Amino acid sequence: MTLLDQVFCMLATSLCNHCLGRQFALLGYGLKNDARGEILRSLLALEAYDLLFSDPEKALSLLNRVVAEAHSCESLNDTSVDTQKVVELELTCYLCNGRFKAIPVLSSRVMEALKDYEFSTFLVGIELPFVVIEREDEFKGRCQVSHSESMKSHFSRVIGKQVAFATEKLVDHHTPDIVALVNPFVNSITLQVNSLYVAGRYRKLVRGIPQSRWLCSECHGAGCVKCDWVGKKYPESIEELIGIPVYRHANGREIAFHGAGREDIDTLMLGSGRPFVVEIKEPKKRFINLATIRNEINAFAEGKIEVGVLVFADKDVVRRIKKAEASKKIYNAIVEFARDVTAEELRRIEDVLCGSVIHQQTPLRVLQRRADLIREKHIYAAKLRRLSKRRAELKLHCQGGLYVKELISGDEGRTKPSLASIIDTEAKSIQLDVLGVID
Ligand SMILES: [Zn+2]
Ligand SMILES: [Zn+2]
Repeated sequence: MTLLDQVFCMLATSLCNHCLGRQFALLGYGLKNDARGEILRSLLALEAYDLLFSDPEKALSLLNRVVAEAHSCESLNDTSVDTQKVVELELTCYLCNGRFKAIPVLSSRVMEALKDYEFSTFLVGIELPFVVIEREDEFKGRCQVSHSESMKSHFSRVIGKQVAFATEKLVDHHTPDIVALVNPFVNSITLQVNSLYVAGRYRKLVRGIPQSRWLCSECHGAGCVKCDWVGKKYPESIEELIGIPVYRHANGREIAFHGAGREDIDTLMLGSGRPFVVEIKEPKKRFINLATIRNEINAFAEGKIEVGVLVFADKDVVRRIKKAEASKKIYNAIVEFARDVTAEELRRIEDVLCGSVIHQQTPLRVLQRRADLIREKHIYAAKLRRLSKRRAELKLHCQGGLYVKELISGDEGRTKPSLASIIDTEAKSIQLDVLGVID
C-alpha cells in the first residue's frame, strides 16, 4: 500500500484531521497531527484532480471522500468548543467521536481539579473506553497503519502540554506529584495524588512509647471501657509524635510511618538515632518548611523523643530504609543472671559471642506477628562489664534484626547460643537501649 492508498483506505470512514494525521505521526517531526491530516487530505484531492480525465470514476470516488470529510472538518475547525458543540461533534469522527476538539475544555478542567493542590510535577493519564481501543485496533489492521501515535499518547501529550504551559509545572513520566486521570469520552477527571515523604532520624529518650500506633486489642480503635475510649493501648507513639505535625502542615489524608527497624517499647533509642520516613498520603501542601516542622515535633514531644534534620525523600528511600533493618546496630543492655557469675564466666561469654553467628528462631513473644523461621545474625563485638554479683552491662555490636533480649535469655532454646546457654544459667535483660543504627 502506498501512503495515498492508506489515506484512501482510512477515509472510507469519516475521520477528523487529528485522527488522520495521527496515523502518520512517526513520519517526520515538527507538524501537529491535525496539520498533517490536512496535508494528507489535500494530497488525496490533488491525486483526484490528476486522475480526472484518465480515470474519472476513480477520481470521483477520491473526491467524494475528501470533500465529505472536508465539509465535516469545516464544522470541526471551530476552536471555541462548548459542551453543546462537543455533543454535536460526536457523530463526526469514526475513531475519536470528535473528542480531540474537547482538549481545551479537558485541559481547563484538569487545571481546575489541580488548583487545590501544591505540586511541582504532574502527569496526564488517559483512560479510554474498551470499544474505542478495539475500533482503532481494527482500523489500523485494515489500513496497515504502522507509523501512528496512539490515541492515549496524543491526548496525554497535548493536554499535558497545555496544563504545563498554564501552570508552569513540569510533566514527569516517572514520579509525578500528581497524576490526572482523564477519560475524554465520559468527561471525567480523577486525581491520583502521590504521597509526600519526609525523612530523618529519631532518638527515643523515655521508655514506654511504641514506634507505631498500637490499637486497643478489645475494640481495634473504636473506643471501649478497656482503653478508656481512646481506642489505643498506648496513649502516644513515635509515629504520632513525629507524624502529626508533618500531617498538619501537609494537610494530607493519612500518615504512614516507616522506620529502619524498631526498638521495643521499653527500649531507648540513643546515639544519632534511628532513620525513618514519614509518608503523608494525598497531601494538599508540599512546599512545607521542614525546619519549622522539626522544631514543632521536638516541642510537641516534650523531650520524650527528638528528631534531627528533616529532608524530603521518595519511595526509594522508604525501600532503602526497610532494608536498613539489616544494617549494623549497637546495643547496651543490663543483664541479670539467676545466680552469681564470675569474671571468668563473663569473659567466656565474650569469647563465644565475638565474631559468632547466632541462630535465632522467631521469638515466642513476636510469633503472632512474624513467620516462624530461623534467622542467622552476626555478632561483631560483645563486651561485658560486671556491675554486681548477678548483674552485668552488655555492649553489643551486631547485625540488625537480631533480637537482643532473646540473645540474653535463650528464649527456651530457640536462640543459640545465648548468654544463658554459654554459662548454663538463666539470664534476662532488665534494660535495653539502642546506641546506634549504622547505615
Ligand atoms: Zn478523530
Ligand atoms: Zn478499646
